Amino acid sequence: MARFFRLRFAPLAALPLLVAAATGSSIAAASSGGISPDGSEARSSAEGVFPIRGRHTYGDGLGAGRGHQGQDVLAKCGKPVVAARSGRVRVKDYQASGAGNYVVVKGKDRKHDYVYMHMLRRLAVSEGERVGAGELIGYVGSTGRSSACHLHFEMWSAPGWYRGGDVENPTPPLKRWDRGS
Ligand SMILES: [Zn+2]
Repeated sequence: MARFFRLRFAPLAALPLLVAAATGSSIAAASSGGISPDGSEARSSAEGVFPIRGRHTYGDGLGAGRGHQGQDVLAKCGKPVVAARSGRVRVKDYQASGAGNYVVVKGKDRKHDYVYMHMLRRLAVSEGERVGAGELIGYVGSTGRSSACHLHFEMWSAPGWYRGGDVENPTPPLKRWDRGS
């Protein structure tokens, strides 16, 4: 319940950003490359793993003229979403007005939180569970405030997502991981 309370009554300044972050309404058509063969195996590396298995394209990035706090990656609903980095599941929850089914993973290195939004209801992890990079978290969906099947991915610096951390631009690491997968 505490978590629910924190989300619903987040600081007023933060709440609109959270909603904006989770809004999929202005997803533009696929913009830039990043297509990998359908069903390709994401390769585990020391640095990270691209979080979607299968064909994907990039949508809105950070900002996008609407305070967007992450990178949208479009893929078919049902495609596996895997952990980009290893860590522990800090939050697994549902937010109808924004994030939909989402998961926050605290990075094992404690330097970042990784956030995965709009997934299908059938999530593969529980709170407190450890996940390794490349391990299944859930499936691409369009839950919450979203108008197309996509993963909204965020990276926050320590101490983490709505715990005083800052939003970081996840696009460069995503593209690096994408090239390696
Ligand atoms: Zn988004």
